[in-house]
Amino acid sequence: MSIIYFDNAASTRVDPRVLEAMIPFFSESYANPSALHAMAQQAKCAIEEARSKVATMLGANDPSEVIFTAGATEANNAVLAQTKGHILFSSIEHPSIRVPAMATGRATPIPVDTQGSIDLDAYEKLLKEKKPQLVSVMLVNNEIGSVQDINTLGNMAHEYGALFHSDITQAIGKEPLAMNLRPIDFATLSGHKFHAPKGIGAIWVSSQVPFTPWVLGGTHEQGRRAGTMNTPGIVGLGEAAKIAQTEGPSDLAKFRQMREKIVSTVLQNIPNAQVNGQQHGAPHIISLSFKATEGESIIINLDSRGVCCTAAAACTSGTQRKSPVLQAIGLLDEWLSGTVRISLGKFNTDDEVNLLLTALEESVAEVRGISAPSRPF
Ligand code: PMP
Repeated sequence: MSIIYFDNAASTRVDPRVLEAMIPFFSESYANPSALHAMAQQAKCAIEEARSKVATMLGANDPSEVIFTAGATEANNAVLAQTKGHILFSSIEHPSIRVPAMATGRATPIPVDTQGSIDLDAYEKLLKEKKPQLVSVMLVNNEIGSVQDINTLGNMAHEYGALFHSDITQAIGKEPLAMNLRPIDFATLSGHKFHAPKGIGAIWVSSQVPFTPWVLGGTHEQGRRAGTMNTPGIVGLGEAAKIAQTEGPSDLAKFRQMREKIVSTVLQNIPNAQVNGQQHGAPHIISLSFKATEGESIIINLDSRGVCCTAAAACTSGTQRKSPVLQAIGLLDEWLSGTVRISLGKFNTDDEVNLLLTALEESVAEVRGISAPSRPF
């Protein structure tokens, strides 16, 4: 049985071009890039080239605004550590923001509406009341694909004297970035969400704001993040950034078509189904709820048919916890428990979408204890 992968918001396949670019840095230029000899300098040059590629993709003013990290979880924790003051964060942030923010004891979630958009009145009230030093709102949500108007939100944060951070992990290659034109001070990302490997990510920090190191030790990354640099990972991130920048628009057009087909077919063929999030959210993340079913049971059933997807987000699955994101948008329990996330990637094909739709219809019917009508897609 061949495997069909629709869990690209959890992780993506490394692009063969990315892998090819990385390989020499495992087997040939493997020296520590901080050393002085020629082999180390080769690695160092490759790192700086990758930094420029990431900076160009982000629309940074200067490559030095990019700090490499071990992923978005580390990057998000590092940004939160930039303040000792109050933090506002959206109630649909990833756990790598929500958990450390709440652990400070000086953070408040900003409510969202039923589509997953920030409630602007509530946000303004919190800015006035809490006088935060930092606001953190993700560009694209990883469970329901809702997209925030980070220009408006960032301007409002600045008006009230707060710095603004956006977790753009799910937005790379899918949303316009142009960081230098936006009212944003920090952005964070992770390679494995856009066809680079796991264990590499970055913080973009505007050259207008100071950055206090979070991981202490050596003087790597201009003293801003200690630790021997992950040359192959960084080279892979740079290559993936270049590919996302050039191929993102055509991938996006494909995702829009696939989404349209998946949503319309599901709503037409599966009773008591609904789509969560904004009508015009990010097309690659599709959150579907099937009333009075169990998302986990549907996922297991789909898996037995060779289809990989996730009940809510991979980070919360298996924990028997209700998704805080789905709770924040006010999804009633009878819908919430039957939620399945389908996330599209550049390697998905139309044939796979057809197979997914057949499998989904049969799985939901089986979980509901009824047999699905046979229907060609
Ligand atoms: N933020 C978002 C929006 C994510 O989707 C993820 C990964 N699920 C992370 C942060 C964490 O990224 P990493 O796996 O690199 O730690």
